[in-house]
Amino acid sequence: MPETDLVILGGGSGGYACALRAAELGLTVTLIERDKLGGTCLHRGCIPTKALLHAGEVADTVRNSAAFGVEAEFGRIDLPGVRAYLDKVVNRLWKGLQGLVSARDIDYVSGHGSLSGADTVTVNGDSYRAAKAVVLATGSQPRTLPGLDIDGKRVITSDQALLLTELPASVLVLGGGVIGVEFASIWRSYGAEVSIVEALPRLLPLEDESSSKLLERALRKRGISITTGRSYTDLKRRDEGVTLTLDDGQTLDAELLLVAVGRGPVSADIGFESAGVSTDRGYVVVDNQCQTTVPGVYAIGDLRPGPQLAHLGFAEGIRVAELIAGEQPPPIDYDQIPRVTYSHPEVAAVGLSSAQATERGHEVVDYTYDLAGNGRAQILGISGAVKVVAAKDGPVLGVHMVGDRVGDLVAEAQLITNWEALPSEVARLLHPHPTMSEAIGEAHLALAGKPLHAHG
Ligand SMILES: Cc1cc2nc3c(=O)[nH]c(=O)nc-3n(C[C@H](O)[C@H](O)[C@H](O)COP(=O)(O)OP(=O)(O)OC[C@H]3O[C@@H](n4cnc5c(N)ncnc54)[C@H](O)[C@@H]3O)c2cc1C
Repeated sequence: MPETDLVILGGGSGGYACALRAAELGLTVTLIERDKLGGTCLHRGCIPTKALLHAGEVADTVRNSAAFGVEAEFGRIDLPGVRAYLDKVVNRLWKGLQGLVSARDIDYVSGHGSLSGADTVTVNGDSYRAAKAVVLATGSQPRTLPGLDIDGKRVITSDQALLLTELPASVLVLGGGVIGVEFASIWRSYGAEVSIVEALPRLLPLEDESSSKLLERALRKRGISITTGRSYTDLKRRDEGVTLTLDDGQTLDAELLLVAVGRGPVSADIGFESAGVSTDRGYVVVDNQCQTTVPGVYAIGDLRPGPQLAHLGFAEGIRVAELIAGEQPPPIDYDQIPRVTYSHPEVAAVGLSSAQATERGHEVVDYTYDLAGNGRAQILGISGAVKVVAAKDGPVLGVHMVGDRVGDLVAEAQLITNWEALPSEVARLLHPHPTMSEAIGEAHLALAGKPLHAHG
């Protein structure tokens, strides 16, 4: 039976990051993947959706070009053309990733694997033994709700939404989380009538309430219809579309229904239970070292309970590789994970919301800087805001932003909250003029009691 130090099941963000880091540290690695190296993020998630969003941004820019004194006429969205651009991006990254894995002498096994013991994974009848550890990284898949069977035609998930060959004229999006909001934004930019239905009281319910409000206002201005605090009671399918009935009796019609109600773990029927790995609603239970209930078996990425983000999968993969190699990497601070929704407008945040900070006993102060005062935002025609949440006479606890391109500002925000900077310390830093980053500087200047370009 072939034996390597590590056997990793799943070659997505978590699994391949773990493999690359372990190989760097001199461990021998077997990486097992049943589909494509790169997993959800590269083939069905982060990268394809951001390419679709960018094509939408190009379309919106052409539509609005007159506002910048440029005459241009918007023709139409050429979906095969968008697809060719998307495929080119994905394939280039995929090829690069395959090159990285082979350059580090990782033993890549193609096939469906099952955990057949605490230290063994079986693929097509062949077993691979781990001398040091097995890492489970089988990720997640779209979930649906009772009565909403996915038919791939009228009722679809994000996987099928990426493969559409025709543009829908109208779409219902069930679920106002990150994935639902991003697809709503894409389809609106492509010219469809779009409605979002969210059962909770607001879109992006995990973000600061102020961000949800600004986002909802901006999406409504774009012509997207939003219904919150309502769940569906019935779905009728017809040849030409669907009718969704909500719990207030309202009915909504569209050509397509995108079910974006979250993603569940891929953990069934792959030997986890029989090997003794405990799960909770399918998610693999782990401690703060990503150790499962079986010694020597780890679980990382979307498979464990918690945020489902590619960069978190990378971080857990790297950390677990280092732990297995005998290093003592610092723990991951799950409160400090930056997050971005790449819709138009974008929503980005790191750290605690006002409500969370208050719940944790902080006396909270905050300041919201309107992008109307930012020169770069005005040049680009961007509206939105940067909100900074701080402890009274203490450090910055969270930064919450809405507006195109604010995703690029969250890296600085992350340094501020992770290093527990005081507003007065950030206020000392120079932000180049005219950039969007000045909005971060301005919010901290105001919180430090010396506002510059701030009204009111
Ligand atoms: C539409 C969409 C957009 C997203 N956008 C973003 C974004 O912009 N930014 C961000 O940070 N995150 C985004 N995400 C989330 C991100 O894709 C996931 O958090 C990330 O891919 C999780 O990595 P993972 O390694 O845990 O799982 P996955 O990437 O799902 O990888 C798991 C891998 O395991 C393989 N596998 C499963 N079972 C077996 C088996 N039995 N044998 C062999 N192989 C197996 C699968 O084929 C898969 O390749 C998005 C997700 C979606 C769906």
